[in-house]
Amino acid sequence: MIFQIQKTPLRVLALLILVSLTSCKDDAKQKDTPEVAVVAKEIDRFEFGFKLNDFIVVRDTIKKGDSFGEILERNKIGYPKIFQIAEKAKDSFDIRRLQVGKPYTLLLSKDSLQLPKCFIYQPNKIDYSVIDFQDSIHAYNHRKPITYVEKEVSGVITSNISEALDNLGVSPVLAYKMSDDIYAWTIDFNRLQVGDRFKVIYADKYIDDSIYAGVDHIKAAVFEHKKEPFYAFEFKTDSVKGIVDYFNEDAKNLRRAFLKAPVQFSRVSSRYNLRRRIAYYGNKIRPHKGTDFAARVGTPILATANGTVTKASYTRSNGNYVKIRHNSTYSTQYLHMQKRKSKVGDFVKQGDIIGWVGMTGNTAGPHVCYRFWKNGRQVDPFRQKLPEAEPISEQLKVSYLEYIKSLRSQLDNIQFLDDELLATQENEFQTNYN
Ligand SMILES: [Zn+2]
Repeated sequence: MIFQIQKTPLRVLALLILVSLTSCKDDAKQKDTPEVAVVAKEIDRFEFGFKLNDFIVVRDTIKKGDSFGEILERNKIGYPKIFQIAEKAKDSFDIRRLQVGKPYTLLLSKDSLQLPKCFIYQPNKIDYSVIDFQDSIHAYNHRKPITYVEKEVSGVITSNISEALDNLGVSPVLAYKMSDDIYAWTIDFNRLQVGDRFKVIYADKYIDDSIYAGVDHIKAAVFEHKKEPFYAFEFKTDSVKGIVDYFNEDAKNLRRAFLKAPVQFSRVSSRYNLRRRIAYYGNKIRPHKGTDFAARVGTPILATANGTVTKASYTRSNGNYVKIRHNSTYSTQYLHMQKRKSKVGDFVKQGDIIGWVGMTGNTAGPHVCYRFWKNGRQVDPFRQKLPEAEPISEQLKVSYLEYIKSLRSQLDNIQFLDDELLATQENEFQTNYN
C-alpha cells in the first residue's frame, strides 16, 4: 500500500534526475564556488546585434490596421522622414509586407526625447529585418544563430510511447521520429509491450541560444522490444545529396525495400489467411491471399517499393487494380481502387501514388487488397524477411563501424529509468526506517 502511494512521486523524481543530468552538474559547480556579496550591476544584453542596454526597448506585435508609417508616427517620427526611411530600406525590406500578429521591436533613444532609432521586424522565429536610422538609414536582413544541444533520455513503456515521453517532459516529436523514421520496419509501435524500454541520444534545436525550436534529429537510439535490443545510428551515406539513414550495429540499413503498408493511417481489416472461413459462403474455406487495409475512399495508395507497372486494368472481381514488378523475385498488386493513377510501363518509386482507395470489384467496403508475390507465389508480406533498403557501401562501412564505437558506448552508459528507480526506492526505503 505504502509503495502504491509513493510510486508516482518517486517515478517523477527519478525522471527529473535523468532529464536534468547536465543542470545537476552545474548546480554542483555553483555550490563549490564560495559565496560573495554581489553588487547590483546591469548585465549586458545583446539581441539583433545591438546592445539593448543602450536603448529603451519596446516590443509589440503588428495589429490589424497597423502600418510601418503609423507605428513610427505613434513614436514621434514625422511623415517626410518616414517616406525617406521607407525609400532607402526598400531594397532589403518591403514595409508593406508587415503581417498581423508578427512581433516587432523598436529601439528608442534613452534621452528625454525617446526617439525611435531602429525598427526590427520578425517574420518568423529565425529571420529578422532591421531598419537602422540612427545616423544614415540602412536596412538589412539577418538570421538568428541556431545551435544544437545534445540530450540523452531513457524511458520505459507502461502504456504507450507518447505517454512515456510525456512523463519525461520530452517532445512527442521524438516518438514520431522513432516510430516512423527509425523503427518503422523493425518494431510495431502499436504493439509495444509493457516493460519495453529505450535510450535515445538526440539534438534539440535552439534559436539564439535561448528559444527552444524542437527536437531536430536523433543521433543514436536503442530500443529494447521484448527484451531484444535494436540499435540505430544515424549516418550520412551521401554528403553531396545529404542522404541520411539509420543503420544497426552491423551496418545493416533499418529501412526495408518495402513499405509496411500501401496506405498511411490505415488498419489491417483482414490478413493473409489460407484457411479463412466465411459465413456468407456456408462457412467454407475461402483462402485470402491478400492483406486488406481499410481506409477511406479516395485515400492515396502508395507503391510499397520501386518497380515497373506490369498491369493496370479492371476485372469484375479485382475492380481497378495495378500490379508492380519490383525485381525478379518480388511483385505487388493493389485491388479495388476507385481510380488508377499509373499505366503499364510506368516506373514508380517507393511511396509514389499509384491510385486511390475505392470499392470497385468484389468488395463490401472501401479498402485496398494488397497482394505480395514472391517467386510467382502469393505470400504473407508480414511473414517475409524483406530485403534492406540501400545497404551501406563497403567503402563507407569501415568508417561507419569506427564512427559508432563511441556512440554505442555513450548509449550503453545511459542508465535505464527502472535501474534509477530501483536505486531511489532502496534509498527511500532505508530513510523511512531510520
Ligand atoms: Zn483482400
